[in-house]
Amino acid sequence: MNRFADVILPLPLYRYFTYRIPDEMQGRLRQGHRVVVSFGRSKFYTAIVVALHDMEPQGYEVKEIATLLDDEPIVLRTQLNFWQWIAEYYLCSVGDVYKAALPSGLKLESETSLTINNDYEEDVDNRLTEREAVLLQTLAGQGRLTVQELEKATGLRNTLPVLRRLVEREAVFVTERMRVNYKPKTEVCVRLTFEQGNHEALRAAFDLVGRAKQQEVLLLSFLDLSHFMQKGCYVEVSRSELLARADVSPAVLAGLVNKGVMETYKREVSRFVPLVHRSVELPRLSDEQSRALGEIYGSLGDKSVSLLHGVTSSGKTEIYIHIINNILQQGRQVLYLVPEIALTTQLTERLQRVFGDKLLIYHSRFSDNERVEIWYKMLRSREPRVVLGVRSSVFLPFHDMGFVIVDEEHEPSYKQYDPAPRYHARSAAIVLAGMYGAKVLLGSATPSIESYYNALTGKYGLVELLVRYSNNPLPDVRTIDMREQRRRRQVKGNFSQALIDAMQGALKREEQIILFQNRRGFAPMVECRECAWIPKCTQCDVSLTYHKRDNRLVCHYCGYSCEIPHVCPACLQATIEVRGFGTERIEEDVEEMFPDVKMARMDLDTTRSRNAYQEIIDDFASGKSKILVGTQMVTKGLDFDRVSVVGILSADTMLSFPDFRAYERAFQMMSQVAGRSGRGKSRGEVLLQTSQPELPIIGQVIAHDYIGMYQEQILQRQQFGYPPFTRLVYIYLKHRDEAVLDTLSQQYATLLRKVFGERVLGPDNPPVARIQSLYIRKIMLKVEIAASMSQVKDLLRKIYENSLADSRFKQLVLYYDVDPM
Ligand code: ADP
Ligand code: ZN
Ligand code: ZN
Repeated sequence: MNRFADVILPLPLYRYFTYRIPDEMQGRLRQGHRVVVSFGRSKFYTAIVVALHDMEPQGYEVKEIATLLDDEPIVLRTQLNFWQWIAEYYLCSVGDVYKAALPSGLKLESETSLTINNDYEEDVDNRLTEREAVLLQTLAGQGRLTVQELEKATGLRNTLPVLRRLVEREAVFVTERMRVNYKPKTEVCVRLTFEQGNHEALRAAFDLVGRAKQQEVLLLSFLDLSHFMQKGCYVEVSRSELLARADVSPAVLAGLVNKGVMETYKREVSRFVPLVHRSVELPRLSDEQSRALGEIYGSLGDKSVSLLHGVTSSGKTEIYIHIINNILQQGRQVLYLVPEIALTTQLTERLQRVFGDKLLIYHSRFSDNERVEIWYKMLRSREPRVVLGVRSSVFLPFHDMGFVIVDEEHEPSYKQYDPAPRYHARSAAIVLAGMYGAKVLLGSATPSIESYYNALTGKYGLVELLVRYSNNPLPDVRTIDMREQRRRRQVKGNFSQALIDAMQGALKREEQIILFQNRRGFAPMVECRECAWIPKCTQCDVSLTYHKRDNRLVCHYCGYSCEIPHVCPACLQATIEVRGFGTERIEEDVEEMFPDVKMARMDLDTTRSRNAYQEIIDDFASGKSKILVGTQMVTKGLDFDRVSVVGILSADTMLSFPDFRAYERAFQMMSQVAGRSGRGKSRGEVLLQTSQPELPIIGQVIAHDYIGMYQEQILQRQQFGYPPFTRLVYIYLKHRDEAVLDTLSQQYATLLRKVFGERVLGPDNPPVARIQSLYIRKIMLKVEIAASMSQVKDLLRKIYENSLADSRFKQLVLYYDVDPM
């Protein structure tokens, strides 16, 4: 008999916890079930069962599982193995992985905040229990409460199971900071209690309304909205729409319902875009594409991963579509990873046309309820599906993953920086695919140095597709030497005369323009002309960015903002100046130079709302806007055929970044943005402004010489012992007191050196050495590729535990970043 269960708690704890299985759960409890357990001082959590056994733990009193939440497991065995792998490899706890993997709606805990759904109507066939009703009423008066607060207010205990039912019925929402434009799954609608065309009943209804003026308004509004008087044109009317039109309170509607004139009912609405018709015809591949597809299948015969190096606009997507179709026909599932939501808008439509409702989309901007819905869809059916998703979709419950595509595999956004698990979705997906026996295709026009190295050394297959689909030539890249331009006084604001001329030409020919600047905001810095004072964030060690729109200085790390000082606080003169340039400043320059041309800006600031991307992209696609200014968001995936000029405003800012990947990243961004040009009929033109045109990397961008860039960079990596020749682990240490931190991090590095010797570098100040009042130091560990990560993990844990003998180390916040980007 199994009397005990090991569970994962959603906490950063490095082990499983054991609970006693109560008699009534005997035989019912299974791996992957959710249970509610108490932990610490009377806090309740939703935990996941990983194992059942009969070994009584020693040394502490074993508590009982409070409640079993599921009939069916909610996490599959492969997923639990996958979580375990992530925790091992990325040096974090399985609890951290669990927290990242499950949508918050599925892992309620004492700290979860809840709000009531004001549109919720009790279901007559499924009445609320007393406990449910009490919780709902309490929540209704309060706006937002945590589970703990709710329990305090109601005096009820162990409410998680009850709340779970309320969340699943959508009577209650789990609130998240990022939720935007949430759309409920059902909508309350209103109808009359009689049929269209029943004039007698209608007259009777007006009699019943009598002199109740507001009820009359409501009835008339209904007749209008529903087209009730026009036979055959009836339209369903939602309650909120009706109340808004009539401008009356819900009590008025309740009055008419009581009189038996109207009734309400629920209508299912889909949260997801309505599906377009499915065409069974797949796009016909060109000869080059067919060859590439054949080679991909060939290379995946004996290898599990293949790299498709296909230049921009070579038609990689169409190749993916053929592969997906093939896997779906085998009855298996596909994971199609993309780095960001920006890519998916155009792609989604393309995939929907071919795959219809077999396509599921998993955005980063989905609300929690939408995530829960997709989770259940995957969990409850083994149907062949293709999931198009961002990084976190590697956590979805696939039953039978047959293939993984990682598009734009070089993108750094596949790496999660914060919080733990700091995983790389590409590496994680490769491991996950291995667990299912699935093959992986990585695709990029500018592969990461690591992947290309793996391909050249035979670990991955390599397939090259070096011509564009239309056989269009790659765009013509020209450098503009900004030093020379300045000497000749041919620079206006941030624009060289050459770029202005090219833009004018494009506009005259009715073509479009993309301008790329890798910084957002108006100008990156404000500075004192006299004493070089720079305003810094009070919490973080970074200079503030000037945002022209609200005339404020903003910290891009913590969001702190303040007014721009009129007088320099250091030298007390009125010599504060705005220096450098960001996207907002570029936008303003363009407006000044081309006042009649409609333009749009795309960066983090303009795309906060859910539909903003779509609108910007639609306007540009339809030709409504002619110039698109943006950060690296515009470098990715966009496919517009009327873009003939791309301007790269400053290559210098990208090249001066203090990181061993700076040149690789700069090459990737510049080549990708260049690739947005000339995708239609005419050859594209790219103008690259730089003060260092003599740098080899500039020559490589001009020549579209990926291999040249690779060869130069790989030599450097080898010489200095960077990936792919070593594996990096950053060890971050944080503390409030900088002096204490300096001492402790020196000592910690010494402890590490005793075990790892020369492999330890630092401590150093990272580029941002203070965030939100915590000072940060970084120690770098370079381990051999062949070294076992679980051994490294054990050693690191021992060092940490030994350090705690000195109690000062207990105040340190310490965490790891494996394979940092
Ligand atoms: P990539 O992803 O390699 O940059 P895309 O897949 O976006 O390239 O293809 C570039 C353009 O060529 C798109 O407009 C696409 O519709 C078109 N295209 C590519 N392959 C085909 C094909 N086999 N049939 C028709 N159009 C194609
Ligand atoms: Zn800050
Ligand atoms: Zn000054």
